[in-house]
Amino acid sequence: MRIRLGLSLGLSALGVAGTLWAAEGDLAGLRAPMSIGSAPIVWQYDGDQGPSHWGEIAPTTASCEKGTHQSPINIRTAPHHQSHDGLLVHYTAAPGHVVTSHHTIEVDFQSGESLEVLGRTYTLKEFHFHEPSEHQLNGRTYPMEAHLVHRDETGHLVVLAVLMDLGNESASLSAVWDRIPSEKQDVVRDLLIDPQDLLPKDLHHYAYDGSLTTPPCTEGVHWIVLKEPISITSAHIERFVSLIGHNARPVQSLNEREIDEE
Ligand SMILES: [Zn+2]
Repeated sequence: MRIRLGLSLGLSALGVAGTLWAAEGDLAGLRAPMSIGSAPIVWQYDGDQGPSHWGEIAPTTASCEKGTHQSPINIRTAPHHQSHDGLLVHYTAAPGHVVTSHHTIEVDFQSGESLEVLGRTYTLKEFHFHEPSEHQLNGRTYPMEAHLVHRDETGHLVVLAVLMDLGNESASLSAVWDRIPSEKQDVVRDLLIDPQDLLPKDLHHYAYDGSLTTPPCTEGVHWIVLKEPISITSAHIERFVSLIGHNARPVQSLNEREIDEE
């Protein structure tokens, strides 16, 4: 397996309150590989570099073990506090780049597609996938989960999570899968896609404050988990697993956090 090397000059910014700028891409894998000096931080989804060891990798990844607001979580579907967060998505067809990284398949955007929540606007940076799902509903793990990662001007992150259940083939997912490079490397292939096509019709959701689900597990990420799943075929799942393997962090303790519902 090839491990990407690289610099992350912005890593120190993770320690700055309110700044999650350097975290972009880490959520999705190694698009912005972390490093200490010139030594890359290597992590996996199993074995002695797996999730239970992420907190030991480096001082900067301590949140993975010591954090109290970590993601993903199991969301109990019992009634929660009703929120009115004003969620609106402003997506149109936009050019994206499909990238197969070490830890996921990702589509990057620079087109200004955006999402509005709690009166603030966040720009879509990328979406990527996990197999199986990271979030659970009432203890149920879904076959896959998509994460649409948004960031505002100050670096705050909002991730829109879409659970994926077995079902009919979706044209938008097929468009992505058709462009997945067959080699696990940074081959970039262009794709015109409307991210709205990845969303279910119903945008009712759960929301909570959590973290990146990959090292450095930085907290301060606002999560919106849609209640209604979209469908994916077993052929698409098999293709993903053959390229990436399983890439889900186990659920984390809810601790004192409240889950909102809308
Ligand atoms: Zn993710």
